[in-house]
Amino acid sequence: MISEKMHEQVKNSSVIRAMFEEGKRLAGIYGAENVFDFSLGNPNVEPPEEVKKAILEIVNDNDIGIHGYMNNSGYEEVRAAIAKSINDKFGTTITHNSILMTVGAAGGLNVILKTLLNPKDEVITFAPFFGEYRNYVKNFEGELIAVSPNTIDFQPNLKEFKDKITPRTKAVIINSPNNPTGVIYSEETIIKLSEILREKQKEFGTDIYLIADEPYRELAYDQAEVPYLSKYYANTIVGYSYSKSLSLPGERIGYLMISDQAADFENIISAANIANRILGFVNAPALFQRVIVKCLDAKVDLEAYNRNRELLYKELLSYGYQCIKPEGAFYMFVKSPIENDAEFCSLANKKNILIVPGSAFGCPGYVRIAYCVAYETIVKALPGFKALIEELK
Ligand code: PLP
Repeated sequence: MISEKMHEQVKNSSVIRAMFEEGKRLAGIYGAENVFDFSLGNPNVEPPEEVKKAILEIVNDNDIGIHGYMNNSGYEEVRAAIAKSINDKFGTTITHNSILMTVGAAGGLNVILKTLLNPKDEVITFAPFFGEYRNYVKNFEGELIAVSPNTIDFQPNLKEFKDKITPRTKAVIINSPNNPTGVIYSEETIIKLSEILREKQKEFGTDIYLIADEPYRELAYDQAEVPYLSKYYANTIVGYSYSKSLSLPGERIGYLMISDQAADFENIISAANIANRILGFVNAPALFQRVIVKCLDAKVDLEAYNRNRELLYKELLSYGYQCIKPEGAFYMFVKSPIENDAEFCSLANKKNILIVPGSAFGCPGYVRIAYCVAYETIVKALPGFKALIEELK
């Protein structure tokens, strides 16, 4: 008999993962080329050449012990190289001590939440948000508090945010470029948000940690700037991942950057190291730590996503859909032409188009299209999108 907690989890299992399975089922019936699966953020762009070269170099090196255990925080030389790269890019002065290698962003978020949360501690996030935050916070008996969406421009609703901070607020998770909207939180937003946090820390005499979940940092179009949070707010922790920036989601590699300015820094570092071990990750994959350190300046072909973005945005708007143009990541968050977003997704499903209801991201009335697919998939799906809205008019 499984645990009651897991019973609940199975019941509410991820809509996105269910869609992924549905895509495979439909592909079996209609052929993969006739199924337009926009459900999962699984990059279709190949990793840069540097990645393949690095893998081959490392495995051909015949160095003894390259597959062995290491410090739970990761190889010191890898962490030092990442720290240096962050310092060079953002003018920070961190050392390897601030870096803890993780099993992707998901692993990193679980490590930091385990490190910080007491039962009933509150973690605030802004809708729409990555639905897994619900589970990650629940893993450590915290409570996820969602600030309602600002559907004008999808920047965080800071007025409501201020009202939702309480003495139990332990952390705030923000994600920019955002999944599912593609919006980049502006510098103005970050400055105001930091001011609110400082004010509330003072009012309540607490430390509130700002967790920047940044798997999409490198996927910013038109040279858009993504503010680096530790420059604005001392109690910052950045969760980074190579899943999207180097198209390596299955390899499970990322890191946490714990700002050396953060309150209780030394204890957080020690606790996070132990959390990584006792959550069962032990350490981030050895081979891929060595790979990414050789690829710190490598980039995926952003233009491929950009072509998809431009085509999809232009065509959907011309059919009468409403959405804001994504500035980063590879998602478009489109207003559902009917109120019920889940029903709209079912209608799309009947045209072999798989998209995800906004409710999964705490924002009903919208749907998410993950356009990290072949350009031809979009071209072939467009008539279906057109027919869908026309049938509903
Ligand atoms: N955070 C956000 C906002 C995501 O979209 C994802 C994956 O899609 C993750 C975290 C998890 O990423 P990773 O594969 O690095 O664990």
